[in-house]
Amino acid sequence: MHTYFKTLFRNVKIGVSQAARGPQSLAFVAASILAAYWLGAAALFLTAPLILLAFHAGDPTNRAGPDTGDIGQMREEVERAVKRARKKSLRTACMAVQIDDFDTLLNRYGRATTNLIISCCHDRLARALRSSDQLFDLSNGRIGVLLAPVRQFGLEPALELAERLQSTVQEPISLGNTTAYISVSVGLCLDGHAPNDPGKALLDASLTALDNALRQGPSKVRAYSSGMPAAAPHRVADELEKAFETDQFVSWFQPQISTDTGQISGFEALARWVHPRAGLMLPAEFLPVLAFTGRLEQLGDATLRNALRAIQTWDTIGFDIPHVGVNFSPEELRNPQLAKKIEWELDRCNIAPKRLAVEILETVVATSPDDAITRNINALAEMGCLIDLDDFGTGHASISSIRRFPVNRLKIDRSFVMKVDRDIEQQRMISAILSMTERLGLETLAEGVESAGEHTILSQLGCDHVQGYGIARPMPLDETPDWISAHQAKVHPPPVIGRIVG
Ligand code: C2E
Ligand code: CA
Ligand code: CA
Repeated sequence: MHTYFKTLFRNVKIGVSQAARGPQSLAFVAASILAAYWLGAAALFLTAPLILLAFHAGDPTNRAGPDTGDIGQMREEVERAVKRARKKSLRTACMAVQIDDFDTLLNRYGRATTNLIISCCHDRLARALRSSDQLFDLSNGRIGVLLAPVRQFGLEPALELAERLQSTVQEPISLGNTTAYISVSVGLCLDGHAPNDPGKALLDASLTALDNALRQGPSKVRAYSSGMPAAAPHRVADELEKAFETDQFVSWFQPQISTDTGQISGFEALARWVHPRAGLMLPAEFLPVLAFTGRLEQLGDATLRNALRAIQTWDTIGFDIPHVGVNFSPEELRNPQLAKKIEWELDRCNIAPKRLAVEILETVVATSPDDAITRNINALAEMGCLIDLDDFGTGHASISSIRRFPVNRLKIDRSFVMKVDRDIEQQRMISAILSMTERLGLETLAEGVESAGEHTILSQLGCDHVQGYGIARPMPLDETPDWISAHQAKVHPPPVIGRIVG
């Protein structure tokens, strides 16, 4: 094994004993899965017991439902099922079902309620499947499905089944006095479609398909195909070095709209990795790798430069874009030089500090951050940058912790926004947040606004800004001018030349 991998793997092992208990185990699990992802299937096999150890040692109530298994057990069962099927000329298939945004769900509802939600997903899947099919708890909101072998089973029926299972699981989940809305992504692989030894590879191929679904998600179904990038890119360190050298990390921009005027109030810069083999990769796939390899700051530098270049581009064209939001990780915020660096960059580009919105996760503020973070936030605010509290509602920040920081705006997390037009409980939550922010004199932005109904009710309830797929998906910088022009034409349509009525 490459020394780099050895070190990484040793860190993973050390992590087990330190992180097996308490909420940190989640971060550790994410890192382990990622190490496995990047180091390849062998590491997944090696780390799987550690992942499970971390999970189960931390919380005895973690197991999701009555019919749970684990990844090792599922592997064995898949191998047995494939052998059995071959002997009788039958066919089986594997699916991996993953709750989207699982960490957000966990933050919002806590471990016990999240377990109830997972348990409900299990029950719904079990009801929709035959009694001979098997379900396995793969941890972290992921459920494995092994279909009992049948005589004829093609790709189309498999996809239809996956979509049916997805719809069943995505029905609202009643939790007594509230309702949870979840979406799931599904990866599947038919016996005979996986590369290499079919018994061993079937589960891995369905996990690769799931990775692809998540990359394009949320709420996507993907079947494994041989052209799919395997879930194990190699030589991570070299790849990252090259990626930064050749500007493979780019920023896409998603607009934010004022509910008052309909005008564009800003854009958020969102990182993308244009990977030479895997194609466009989302932050969920590469941020943990960058965190693992200590390169988050390098990404932050690239994103800041991209954001400032975007402002210059829009200014040159003559568009009025008040500001751009940039996400800052806790690691970056800990750098005592951060405020100076940003000041220098703004100065170099001749851009006023108020054009930069510094997005800080609510969780960072909620957990009484260290002095360096506090100093940076205060220095950036004093300089004139806007401070946005990101993913608000998931981090349990107290009112006093919000008051302690010079926050301008709360970005209300997508989990509160989903179906807000149809669910009275969601409306109550949003109204409570809005009346609190109004009294505190803060602005609000609702994230993840996907439908016209959500947009309308949010403006009616008094939310100041909206951002989400319903307005526009994140786009590369060179697509923004056309989008801005089209949006401006909608808000202020050009005067219609009067028709002469004869
Ligand atoms: P975030 O800051 O909460 O960014 C919003 C995320 O929600 C983005 O995902 C965006 O594409 C997605 N989104 C926007 N509208 C909708 C919608 O209507 N429905 C749904 N389902 N999703 C929507 P993305 O680009 O994958 O980024 C994920 C996270 O990665 C970001 O969450 C942010 O925390 C982090 N991130 C992105 N870029 C950077 C960066 O340059 N540096 C750092 N440190 N973190 C970044
Ligand atoms: Ca953000
Ligand atoms: Ca957010």
